[in-house]
Amino acid sequence: MSIHRKSKHDINLMKQAGNIVALVHAAMKEAVKEGITTQELNDIAYKIIKQNKADPTFLGYHGFPATICASVNEQVVHGFPSNNVILKSGDIISIDVGATYKGFVGDSAWTYPVGDISDEKKKLLRATEESLFAGLEFMKSGEKLENVAGAIEDVAKKYNLGIVRQYGGHGVGRQMHEEPFVYNYRTNCPLILLKGMTIAIEPMLNLGCDDVYVLDDEWTVVTKDHKPSAHFEHTVHVTDDGPEILTKLL
Ligand code: MG
Ligand code: MG
Repeated sequence: MSIHRKSKHDINLMKQAGNIVALVHAAMKEAVKEGITTQELNDIAYKIIKQNKADPTFLGYHGFPATICASVNEQVVHGFPSNNVILKSGDIISIDVGATYKGFVGDSAWTYPVGDISDEKKKLLRATEESLFAGLEFMKSGEKLENVAGAIEDVAKKYNLGIVRQYGGHGVGRQMHEEPFVYNYRTNCPLILLKGMTIAIEPMLNLGCDDVYVLDDEWTVVTKDHKPSAHFEHTVHVTDDGPEILTKLL
């Protein structure tokens, strides 16, 4: 396994890439409401990334056709934005976005409520966000990566939620997907975190079972039982003192 540890210079650029991603999420939080299409959300995201002299990392990545992944309700990840998807009250939407700035990538996802959502969906959002931050607690030099995964798994179990097994977090830097892969449950991974590693942690939790499948569009991942799914992700820098979240507003 070859893991790229970043220099101070690299981290500075990653902070700027991460900040652009955070600006997009700040705008998404405002824009997500009943009646907006996921294409309109995509166009807002594209504009902000370009205005900040960055490039949308997802656009064209293995042929992905858009700036954001827009995954509604039972869609887990990798949904295509569309003029035909009009958000309605009671929906939840997971928006995942990446920006590349001066060669470095920031990657962050958030699930937003649309209007009034059910108590079950509220629990799902709260618990998935809680699992992300529980995992981040262990993003410290000398810690086991396994403890990040375990903390996420424990929160999922506490709330009796399904854990998506086929997708997970990843190293991030000059490439969106670098080593290591990060499971959202315990796997006896021996990796010890070291200062300068930059990793995206991204739990995907389901109100129902763990199982997911991919639609005929070959991208959109949905839950097998069609129950809602949530996704929260931050790009994080491992330091001696703990996690430095790169995808939050500077
Ligand atoms: Mg990611
Ligand atoms: Mg992402």
